[in-house]
Amino acid sequence: MTIALYAFTCGEVTGFREGFLEGETGRLTVPVPAYLIDHPRGKVIFDTGLNIGLRQNAAKLLGPVARDFDVDLPADADIVSQLAALNIAPRDIRYVVNSHLHFDHCGGNGLFPDATVIVQAREWRAAQHPKLQAIGTYSPHDFAHGQSIMEIEGEHDIFGDGRVVLLPTFGHTPGHQSLRVQLPSGPVVLAADCCYLKQTLDHLHLPKFAYDKDQMRTTLMRLRVMQSEGARIFFGHDPEFWQTVPQGTAIT
Ligand SMILES: [Zn+2]
Repeated sequence: MTIALYAFTCGEVTGFREGFLEGETGRLTVPVPAYLIDHPRGKVIFDTGLNIGLRQNAAKLLGPVARDFDVDLPADADIVSQLAALNIAPRDIRYVVNSHLHFDHCGGNGLFPDATVIVQAREWRAAQHPKLQAIGTYSPHDFAHGQSIMEIEGEHDIFGDGRVVLLPTFGHTPGHQSLRVQLPSGPVVLAADCCYLKQTLDHLHLPKFAYDKDQMRTTLMRLRVMQSEGARIFFGHDPEFWQTVPQGTAIT
């Protein structure tokens, strides 16, 4: 049975360049990716993009980080609308996986009430921290929807066949994770925010802010090893790279 990957750009976020590349100035507009992995034993969404409530209420939902980011989520760009174009309904999704719980990665979680959410236990714990919620790092309206939560520790093979495997890629946040998908054409690593841009990996050019920069460097060196062994790395927020990614069609 075959497996396919679908990539979607679910709107855009504009923020300070230094937030992506330390030392740079100005603003940078980046895509907000989400993915569908269609495995014979179930459909998996990796990251859910922005909260659709941001269209009306960005200042309130973003809270203190509203002054740092501009968000743009067109009417047909949210993950559910893009799945609908493939005749896939939210109830068809078995697992929602979050790389981490920042607003542009789990804002659509509430659109999948019947899915089981898979997240690293240490990320789930960090996201409950009142201080981190108060400063807008984590927002319960993005991820607290009463779904069943599968808290995992480290590497996790979702279907037990080595084809959809979560990899701990800590550093950006306490419990960031990436997803390795074994496609017929070879392995793909959906990096998410452990590697924002191609130049993050090429030059180890880190963002200004991270939970733990040493951990982030270690993670990037692991990504380099996987890349040297033939894995295609999908960078988390790279505008140029994302122009080359086929949208909403099967990557096999
Ligand atoms: Zn993030």
